[in-house]
Amino acid sequence: MRIVVLAGGIGGARFLRGLKAAEPQADITVVGNTGDDIHLFGLKVCPDLDTVMYTLGEGINEEQGWGRRDETWSIRDEMAAYGVEPTWFGLGDRDYATHIVRTQMMGAGYPLSAVTEALCARWKPGVRLIPMSDDRVETHVVVDTADLGGPAAAEHPGARRAIHFQEYWVKLRAEPTAHAIVPVGIEEAKPAPGVLGAIAEADVILFPPSNPVVSIGTILAVPGIRDALVEAEAPVVGLSPIIGGAPVRGMADKVLAAVGVETSAAAVARHYGPGLLDGWLVDSGDADAVPAVEEAGIACRAIPLLMTDVEATAEMARAALAMAAEVRVEGGA
Ligand code: GDP
Ligand code: CA
Repeated sequence: MRIVVLAGGIGGARFLRGLKAAEPQADITVVGNTGDDIHLFGLKVCPDLDTVMYTLGEGINEEQGWGRRDETWSIRDEMAAYGVEPTWFGLGDRDYATHIVRTQMMGAGYPLSAVTEALCARWKPGVRLIPMSDDRVETHVVVDTADLGGPAAAEHPGARRAIHFQEYWVKLRAEPTAHAIVPVGIEEAKPAPGVLGAIAEADVILFPPSNPVVSIGTILAVPGIRDALVEAEAPVVGLSPIIGGAPVRGMADKVLAAVGVETSAAAVARHYGPGLLDGWLVDSGDADAVPAVEEAGIACRAIPLLMTDVEATAEMARAALAMAAEVRVEGGA
């Protein structure tokens, strides 16, 4: 079975671990979000690709959900001793090696997709991990300048500014109101080699419980990817990252509000829409959302959606695959 998964960081990576446990023989292609990428200290950092790679390669810091396990922080401390900014983005010593190798290879002319493949040769994630695009895309968030503090806030009351997604998410903990989400560079971005082919040849396409706006939304915004999903033979089934009207982890509610979507399992399904989604899984506690999703033209079922351990997550993956098989039969595809 050929499965394509569009993935962000933690939510995507943890789901993939369950999917691999449920379907060890499957041929899994992961299209990874690169809108979270950031250049720091001259290095190209790809947080979501690395979270998937480290999680599936048994190198992740489990408690944190990102970064390397058994990490040390000498480089960070030395940079801080030089007074070099920023100090708010956590890069550990082991993690640095990944970013150095990536940056060096890209400097030598290799595209990000080839670099990712080379990094995966070490981590053996057991999936084919492809960045959504080899072109540089960096998500920005439009906020009120007043919320940023400092002299600019006082000088330009009422002004707005676009800041890098990581500054909004990590430094500011998504506290300022987000007025818009802007994936800078996306109009010119092309899907990375292999992305459209994998979608066209897939038997099943899954949206894990990743952030619908800044993870899956960004991947869908790469010109050509949404159309390929709509045209694909394979059914598209998603799992809700929203349970009981709140994200299970993180601040997805802030970026959903920025795109005018209510923080609920049903609203996220409608946001993707019946043109894209064939099936949607909501948590058992959100069973009352099922009729609304089905009325919108998307098959829906309620099952436990907490990824508490690999077996619970594998059960979610099995349910998603079962739903895909059902909608495929119903659709006559
Ligand atoms: P990020 O890039 O690290 O933020 O990760 P993703 O975009 O892949 O996933 C983030 C989303 O995962 C958040 O919106 C969470 O609500 C969701 N999430 C995290 N853990 C769980 C879980 O156990 N169950 C469900 N349903 N969603 C989860
Ligand atoms: Ca992310």
